Amino acid sequence: MNTGNTRYIAIIGHPIIHSLSPRMHQAAFNQLHLDYCYLPFDISPEKLKNGVEALKQLGFRGFNVTIPFKEKIIPLLDQISKEAAIIGAVNTVLIENGKLKGFNTDGAGFVESLKKKWTFSLKNKSALILGAGGAAKAVAAQLCLNQVGSIGIVNRTRKKADQLKARLKKHFPKVEVKVFARFGDDLDCFLKKAHLLVNSTSVGLHSGDDSPLPSQFFHKQLKVCDLIYNPSMTSFLKTAQKKGCSFINGRGMLLYQGALAFKIWTGKTAPVEVMSNALSLA
Ligand code: NAP
Repeated sequence: MNTGNTRYIAIIGHPIIHSLSPRMHQAAFNQLHLDYCYLPFDISPEKLKNGVEALKQLGFRGFNVTIPFKEKIIPLLDQISKEAAIIGAVNTVLIENGKLKGFNTDGAGFVESLKKKWTFSLKNKSALILGAGGAAKAVAAQLCLNQVGSIGIVNRTRKKADQLKARLKKHFPKVEVKVFARFGDDLDCFLKKAHLLVNSTSVGLHSGDDSPLPSQFFHKQLKVCDLIYNPSMTSFLKTAQKKGCSFINGRGMLLYQGALAFKIWTGKTAPVEVMSNALSLA
């Protein structure tokens, strides 16, 4: 039951109806008997500024930010973390003493999900990222923060891949970053030496979507990650499975980005198992 002491957390996005974050976070608050309440708000883009101001005025403790506001939120904040500045996007906001502080837990959540599945170190490893949108930026920057040696990027819109490369080179000059224009021999060569293959495109979200990478480019030494979690097995992951690759979907990333946000708002270690179970019930 909500009381005069209840602390409120929101998630803002447009649309928001499919978000699993409310059930995941509320289960965690309940488990630790924290008087917190997590509420979803669908805010139309032209109302973003007023919506954020309303959360501040109503005394919310913080909020998550999802599509399409992860970048647009930045000018509305008082400060942002180093990771969020490198990534150029914010998914978690803490409101403290009337100030809005932005964080990005997507990249760290992704790397945490890798660590839970595989024990290998990312240092000097090589990764191919499909896509150059918000999720790709978070994943690529976090891989660089974890000292990967090289990153390859393939994206439908070449210009966005070039922009991501420029961003990574600015912050991580020692990391080799290559953009591949098409599925050709160069890409094949890169992938033969690569350790990690990540789908951060939205191809696979809809039934009937093909794998965003043709099957001949997979090899069984690759550790394969799809950021998509619903469906849990995309064509991309089915191809990885057929080729004998070890693989994960995006559920771990969702879970661990949430666990990190939970810690930012409450100062407490998140009950990850309870959060994971809440996601399973979805
Ligand atoms: P976004 O910023 O809109 O980027 C979408 C990416 O997909 C772009 O690179 C886009 O290429 C590419 N793309 C879209 N349709 C395509 C098509 N038909 N063929 C080839 N490429 C296509 O979205 P986002 O926020 O990065 O999210 C990307 C995916 O990651 C989504 O599936 C999302 O659900 C998932 N995600 C998961 C988590 C998690 O916690 N597991 C967190 C964030 C995102 P162009 O640049 O050419 O448009």
